Amino acid sequence: MFNYALAQNKGHEEDFKAALKQTVPHLFGDHQSCGQWCGYHQGQQSYKHKGLPYGRPLTGDSLREDMDAIFRVFIANSDKIAPGGSTKDVESFNNMVATKAPKRMYLSSSDSLLNRVACAVAQKNDGHSYINTLNNSLCMSPGRLMAERAELKRRRSAK
Ligand SMILES: [Zn+2]
Repeated sequence: MFNYALAQNKGHEEDFKAALKQTVPHLFGDHQSCGQWCGYHQGQQSYKHKGLPYGRPLTGDSLREDMDAIFRVFIANSDKIAPGGSTKDVESFNNMVATKAPKRMYLSSSDSLLNRVACAVAQKNDGHSYINTLNNSLCMSPGRLMAERAELKRRRSAK
């Protein structure tokens, strides 16, 4: 949904922001603010959500809160995202999220989803050294080997 919103509204910040604001309500079956892109308005009751189990909308208050929290970050940064960074960047971030919250584990109803996505964001922004930063702030061992490995990964990805 996120990638679709970006692809359809690349370079149009306000439209992109509007699409992001529609995304979570849409996924939870509230189509009042959806645009023409939403299949519900063509098929009404018979509309099935593509990519969701049994085509049903998402449910659950805590999942909704987590999704709203995640999308608030994207909405607040829509001016930076709308110009459309390279697809490579988006893909690499998608891969980071996918390694931390694999679809096969079906974490949609899990409390850990927000933390997992937050880890992917930290890794994207700060590199693998985020793990040591986190450990330090929790007064845990800084991990010399992890620091070396994070530096190695940073140098590799800078090439
Ligand atoms: Zn909709």
